[in-house]
This record gives sequence, structure tokens and C-alpha cells, in this order.
Amino acid sequence: MRTVTLKTGERVPVLGLGTWRMGERRSERAAEVRAIKLGLELGLGLIDTAEMYGEGVAEEIVGEAIGGVRDGIYLVSKVYPHNASRTGAVAACERSLKRLKTDRLDLYLLHWRGSHPLAETVAGFEALKKAGKIRHWGVSNLDVDDLDGLAGVRNGGNCACDQVLYHLGSRGIEWRLLAKCQAARIMVMAYSPLGQGTLLRKSAVGTIARKHACDPAAVALAWVLRQPGVITIPKATRPEHVRANIKALDIKLDADDLAVLDAAFPPPKRARPLEMT
Ligand code: NAP
Repeated sequence: MRTVTLKTGERVPVLGLGTWRMGERRSERAAEVRAIKLGLELGLGLIDTAEMYGEGVAEEIVGEAIGGVRDGIYLVSKVYPHNASRTGAVAACERSLKRLKTDRLDLYLLHWRGSHPLAETVAGFEALKKAGKIRHWGVSNLDVDDLDGLAGVRNGGNCACDQVLYHLGSRGIEWRLLAKCQAARIMVMAYSPLGQGTLLRKSAVGTIARKHACDPAAVALAWVLRQPGVITIPKATRPEHVRANIKALDIKLDADDLAVLDAAFPPPKRARPLEMT
């Protein structure tokens, strides 16, 4: 598995598993556990979840799928903004660990900016780090100005990641945020890399997929992963989707492919507020 290296020197797999929408329907639970297990067996060593997903049930599903095994699994979860006070973040993380049936997270993210001052959230994250309950912390859905604000708070420079919306149909981060993160060695974790499935019916994506004899999803993922310092976390419950997505690691898009995709999905021409799903 290719990796991105954090500023601490730690290496993180570039392709993982998303879990949003898991834990919402009881009838899907067994399939969701199986999909995560399959992804891990095939080498997708990173799982992204959140206390928000299924109001905790997605974390329980992840806990069931990993069955207490932590070697080779990079585990990421997120705190709700309304829980992200200094003490609230600690308590929320402890609840997540219980649902995940583990004693530590590799990465803990602020899900989006809320009303608690960033300094408080960072103090909570640093306390969790000191206690060994998380190894690194980061943020999600923070735009350039918020990252500037974060850099100004005590220990704000320890931010390891910004998880943001990034796919062919939503390229706004290419205007400034991506370069800012790359310069600061803040890993970008691209969410909704398949545009929640909508991208896969676009003809330009199909054209490139036929050329590389792969699934359109693999093209969409390879496109996101062409950027240095970027990893991604497609969500897939169907086993054929999990298998198709892994193929992205074998695909190298050439200049002609990128030109076709740029024509169909133009890069940004001006600054825009960061989009969120
Ligand atoms: P996504 O990964 O872009 O798309 C997921 C959808 O694509 C599912 O309906 C899935 O179907 C389908 N799919 C997966 N692989 C496919 C393939 N090979 N061919 C055809 N369809 C395929 O969307 P997402 O779930 O919004 O984003 C991914 C993850 O990012 C989330 O699960 C979550 O972990 C994270 N996220 C974070 C935020 C945030 O605010 N931080 C926001 C959104 C998402 P099946 O499930 O039926 O296989």
C-alpha cells in the first residue's frame, strides 16, 4: 500500500474505508461488517468513522469488524463540534473507544468547526494524546482562514490532517487549501471521493475507465490520489465495490487522461468557500 508521511514521520495508507451511512439500517449491519472485514483482508488498512455516523452505531460496526485487532489498522474517528470542549472531547473520545472496543485511535478529528474555541478543542486533544488514547489529532471541513486560526493557538501546529470534500466534481480545494496543507505537512483526507456515486455515470470517467480496463470508481479514486499528501476513504458496502476501489492503486493517469478529465471537470477559476457534503 502506498503511504503519505505525516510530519511526525508516521506513514498512513493512502486508501481506506469510509463508514458514513453505516449503522443506519439494522438489516444492513451484517453486510457492513463483512464489507469492512473484506477491505481489511484486501489491504485497505485505514478506517474512517465518527460518533455522528448512525449516532454511534457505525463505530460499533467497526468495532465488531476489527474484533479488537489493531495491528495494521489505522483507526480514525471524529468528535461532534458540540462535544468539542476541552472536557467534552475527552469524554466523547472515551465513548467512541468503548464502541470501537479498542484503547486508542490513530487519528481523532474535529468533525467541523462549531462554537467551542479551537484552543479548547486542541487542549482536549492534547490531553487525550498525553493519556495515550489518541496518537494524532486533526480537523475536518476547515478552510484556509480556520487553519490560520488553528495555527495561532497553543499546540495548533500539531494538527496532522484536514479531512475535506474533494472529488472530480468538487475541486475547490485546489485554489488554495490544498497547497496550504501540503506546505504545512497537514495530510489532506479526501471525503466523498466518488461524489457519493454520482461521478461514476459521467462519460469522461467512463472513457478513461475503458482505456485502463477498470471500474469508473477506480479512475475517480486514482485522480484524487494523484496529488501528493492526499489520502482518501471511499465508502462501499457491496463487496464488488470494495474490490473495484482497490484497483485505483494500480492506475496511473497520464497527461492525456488528466486533460480529458480537466475538460469535463474544470479546475477552480476563483476562490470559493470550502464545500461540505
Ligand atoms: P463516496 O465514498 O464518494 O460514495 C459512497 C457511495 O458510492 C456508496 O453509495 C457506495 O455504494 C458507492 N460506491 C462505492 N464504491 C463504488 C464502486 N466501485 N462502484 C459504484 N459505486 C460505488 O461517499 P461518502 O460516503 O460520502 O464519502 C466517503 C467517506 O468519507 C464517508 O463514508 C465518511 O467516512 C467520510 N465523510 C466525511 C465527511 C466529513 O464531513 N468529514 C463527509 C462525508 C463523508 P455501496 O455502499 O452500496 O457499496
